Parts: sequence; structure tokens; C-alpha cells
Amino acid sequence: MKNQNPFQDRGLDFYILLAVMVLTAGLAFAQTTAIRAGNLIDPAAGTVAKGQIILVKDGRIVEVGPAVTIPAGAEVIDLTNAWVLPGLMDAHTHITLDFNTNAGFDSIYLRESSAMRALRGLRTAQDILQVGFTAVKDVGNDANYAAVDIRDAIRKGWFDGPTVLTTGKIIAPFGGQTHRIAPEQGFFWLFEYIDADSVDEVRKAVRENIYYGADAIKLVADNSTFYYTVDEIKAAAGEAHAAGKMVSVHVMGGEPARNVILGGADGIDHGFYLTDELLQLMKEKGTWLIGTEFPQAHLEQMDPSGSMGAAKEEAAKELDRLKRAYKIGVKMAFGTDSVSNLPGKNRGEMMLDYLDMWDAAGVPPAATLKAMTTDAAEFMKINKTRGSIAKGMAADIIAASANPLESIQALRQVSFVMKDGKVIKKRD
Ligand SMILES: [Zn+2]
Repeated sequence: MKNQNPFQDRGLDFYILLAVMVLTAGLAFAQTTAIRAGNLIDPAAGTVAKGQIILVKDGRIVEVGPAVTIPAGAEVIDLTNAWVLPGLMDAHTHITLDFNTNAGFDSIYLRESSAMRALRGLRTAQDILQVGFTAVKDVGNDANYAAVDIRDAIRKGWFDGPTVLTTGKIIAPFGGQTHRIAPEQGFFWLFEYIDADSVDEVRKAVRENIYYGADAIKLVADNSTFYYTVDEIKAAAGEAHAAGKMVSVHVMGGEPARNVILGGADGIDHGFYLTDELLQLMKEKGTWLIGTEFPQAHLEQMDPSGSMGAAKEEAAKELDRLKRAYKIGVKMAFGTDSVSNLPGKNRGEMMLDYLDMWDAAGVPPAATLKAMTTDAAEFMKINKTRGSIAKGMAADIIAASANPLESIQALRQVSFVMKDGKVIKKRD
């Protein structure tokens, strides 16, 4: 009986030919996108190159220059009238949080399930990407590692979203960021925090976070009158660095901040009350500042009762610290700590409100843009793949209709967003 398999009598040559045909077809169909960039910004140098062409293939930038040949069949995106730049970054976000202090901070993790928090995080991630942020570092309060799952779902391509770096649970001395919870209630903060009160416990907490998928480590040093010692910070940094992870620490100022700097943490988050002397010490040690200076309107909304101090005075203090940090020359990565939405604004728009603080502090637009791109990428240790528009880098590209080097507020009008080579937004 004749065998029905059509490949039955074929020789090896046939299969080699078939393999070559399939490969060739695959290469021909891998879409190349060509972006005509009228004004291409290099945030590292603060310069603009006119009339550039960016070729993108398989999610990466394969060529950039003024005389790049656009291959036949390439999709051409016309941004000749726009200012094209790398995607923005925020080094301090909490995508699964919606901070509503009317109900109390603690109630966020008592009343909402991880599933709900994960869904919010995914929605927030998408809003953030729409306004032009293509990478964020999520620094905890993430509902039992929900941000790790969001990161993975986006990586798998299930949903559009920015690159999300996660820190897992926040490591803190006893009590997390709660205050005087009644003893009968138990340690419910362990849903969001790991209590670590000695060098050994800090080491174990770092390992636990790495085990559950954290990209980096976050500590809160000074929530209470007790705070981390230099040795405890050294333990966290040593353990994290050995695993190739960085450590940033929520700390406001004073002796706890000095311990964080001397302990070798990579960054200080907030640092609202850092003195010039401590800022100088950070500069010497190469400690990054992720300043999260809150606009007054955000403070008022987050803390209507004024328990953090009057919003106006608090915003003024944070602004003053931003001014001093810039003047002293501390390395700064843009970070917002945006955890709520004002009426009519989504989370991405809330994050852009922080530009007002950088403007008010007199930081030049070029320096602010660098903190939001090149420098943020360096701080987050993703600068080998993201944060600039160059051959081999991931195609995280945005465009604005005005020049952000002249006014940083131009970033409020991002008209084009490409994430890993995929067009997310294009407005004419
Ligand atoms: Zn925060």
C-alpha cells in the first residue's frame, strides 16, 4: 500500500531547503519600523540632533542616524515635527496602592484583596505607560508580591505596560509603617512588610524577597523612634549586592539617614529633612536621592487631617531640600511616590505634576529630563538596555510636540509612545 505521507520519499536536501525557506520567510516578515525623528534628544548630553532616522526591529533599536536607509516594506512613523526621546522613568511608585487616608493607611491592606490590588496595579501601569513612562521601580506596599505578578504578566506580553522593577515586601524594624495597632490585632502588616530587627533578620528578609522574585530591595529605616543601625544597613546592602540587586531606603533625615548613607545603601527615598551636611555626605559616597517632593495639592489630598504637618509648609520644606540637593550636586533619579489620584487625573498625570516642583526648585529642564531618563536608568541598573536611543537598546521611545529641554512641561503633552518596539499611542 502506498504511504500517504508526502515527505516519505524526500531526501535530506529537501529538508535543508525547507528549513532555509522557513527561515528566510521569517526574516522577511519580521517587521521593521522606521521612525523619522525631526528632533532627537540625547538626555545624557542635553542636545538635539535634527533629521534622524531610527530603525526598530524585534523590539530593539537596530540603527540610528541621519543617513540610515529605510528598508523596503518598513512601516514608517512620521515624527518630523516632534521631539523624540527615550521613555520616562519613575524610580519610586506604588502601582497597587490607592492612598485614601479618610479610611486610614492601614485599611488599604485590611480591606482590599491581593486580587483587587493586582488589578488596580495593572490598570495603573497602563495609565502610566500612556503618558510616557516606560519604566518604573515599584517600591513595595504591593499586596503580598502582587507587583511581581504584574511585572511577569507584562513581561509575558499578556498586557501592555511599562518595565516594572519590584522590591517585594518592605523590610522594616518591628511594625512596618504602622503605628500603635492594638496588640489583639496581631501582625497584620506582615501582608506588606517583613519585620527585621537584627543583622541576621535583615539578611534573612533580603533573601526572602529575592526568593519571591524581587528585582531590588527596599527598607524603611525610620518609621518609629527605633531605627536601623549602620551594621543592619550594611547587612542589607551586602546581601542584596551579592545577589546583584540594589538597595534603597525610605528615610527622612538625621541619624537614621546618616546610618543609611554610611551603611552603603544605593539610594535614599524621600530624605525630606536632609541637611546640607548629609547631602554632602551622599555626594561623597555616591548615594542617589530619589526625592519624591510632593506638590502641595497632592499632600492636601493625601492627608486632609494635616497629620503630616500643614501641606503648604511641608511642600515648601521638600522644595527647599530639592533646591539644596541640586545645588550640592547629589545624584538624583526622578521618583514621585504618587499614590493617589486627584479628581480628573489618572496616576500618570499625577506623576507628571511633580515636574512643577522641579521647575519651582529652579532645576534646569535638561537636568530634570536626565533624572527622568539616563540617570534613572543608571540608578535602577537598567542603563545597559534602556534609557537612551542607541543601537542595541530596547525601543522605548516617546515624542512630545514641544521641546522638553526648553520647558520640561512639554512632557505633559506626550503624543507618541513606543514600548519594546510596539506602538502604544500615536496622536497626530
Ligand atoms: Zn513610597
